[in-house]
Amino acid sequence: MVMITSKESLEEKLTLRPDEKQWFENPSSLPLLISDYYFSLIGDTPDDPIRREVVPSVLENVTDASIDPLKEVSHSVTARLIHRYRNRAALLTTDRCFTYCRHCFRRRFTGLDTGPISEKEIDEAAGYLKAHREIKELLLTGGDLFTLSDERLEYLFRTLKEVRDDIILRLCTRAPVTFPDRFDEKVMKIIEKYSYGAPFMLLTHYNHPTELTEKSLEAVKKFLALGIPAFNQTVLLHGVNDDADVLEELCNKLLYNRIKPYYLFQGDLVTGTAHLRCDIKAGIALEQELRRRLSGLAMPQYTLDLPDGGGKIILTRDHFTGEDDDYYYFTTPEGEERKYPKKKG
Ligand SMILES: *Cc1c(COP(=O)(O)O)cnc(C)c1O
Ligand code: SF4
Repeated sequence: MVMITSKESLEEKLTLRPDEKQWFENPSSLPLLISDYYFSLIGDTPDDPIRREVVPSVLENVTDASIDPLKEVSHSVTARLIHRYRNRAALLTTDRCFTYCRHCFRRRFTGLDTGPISEKEIDEAAGYLKAHREIKELLLTGGDLFTLSDERLEYLFRTLKEVRDDIILRLCTRAPVTFPDRFDEKVMKIIEKYSYGAPFMLLTHYNHPTELTEKSLEAVKKFLALGIPAFNQTVLLHGVNDDADVLEELCNKLLYNRIKPYYLFQGDLVTGTAHLRCDIKAGIALEQELRRRLSGLAMPQYTLDLPDGGGKIILTRDHFTGEDDDYYYFTTPEGEERKYPKKKG
């Protein structure tokens, strides 16, 4: 596979802006890596949204926030396992991705050469899951799960299924977006082989309608054909998708292709991503507009993972306006008042 990793290879196609050029003199910790396929989606304007997702800028050196805002390090229970919510946990299967996103919220880890999870680390995580029956869902994340070799993937699935075949495994991956060729017959056979017990669920990461190419959707279809449902997590990104028309098109196309829009994340307060974040009040206004335009099924939940490890909360306009002895009061989406009686006795 051909990967874009240098200034020269970017310049074969793009005329770099000054802030992009300056990154190479003063790079941030997250490496430059763009797959040939994803690079082909970039349009030739300086403010192209796909370009903003993956071409680095010196603005990443603005240190206004934390490197670990979700306090994942202090919630780690083994080298690779984060247990933040009682009934679910997240396994960092590798620090590698097929393309590094400039908005990556796990910069403390991603692309820093920790490498793929070892068999020993898989065994450790399995030991913890065996002892913690309260865990019902496991996020296989990173980095990108599918950068693991077929052999390591198989070892991971086999070991997890051996200790707990009742845990729902979320396959968290951006590979359908950035490197759809990964999903060849061999890897799909492995997934099929371990599709027993609790189901796999596919969690994709599409941020813009341009990413929903035929090739990309073909990769997702392979999971759907195995009966694996697909959900999408989008990050709200300034200059990429902070626009009602763009998000409306994205969510409708996702749903049409049987990928349920799940979360629309407010950008985490992670250092190096300030230029890509949106203001929360503007985000809530956008959410309201989307609610007017989209069906309930097409509508993602606008979500904030609170700084200092506060956990996830849903952001939306509050329709509850107050109460008296007899009633609760609400506003309709059109701004009219309604009341609903309290239950007595
Ligand atoms: C977001 C997250 C989860 C999953 O949360 P859901 O709301 O169920 O999607 C699990 N563990 C960690 C550490 C997370 O950040
Ligand atoms: S694919 Fe995910 S883990 Fe990898 S760089 Fe993008 S956001 Fe970060």
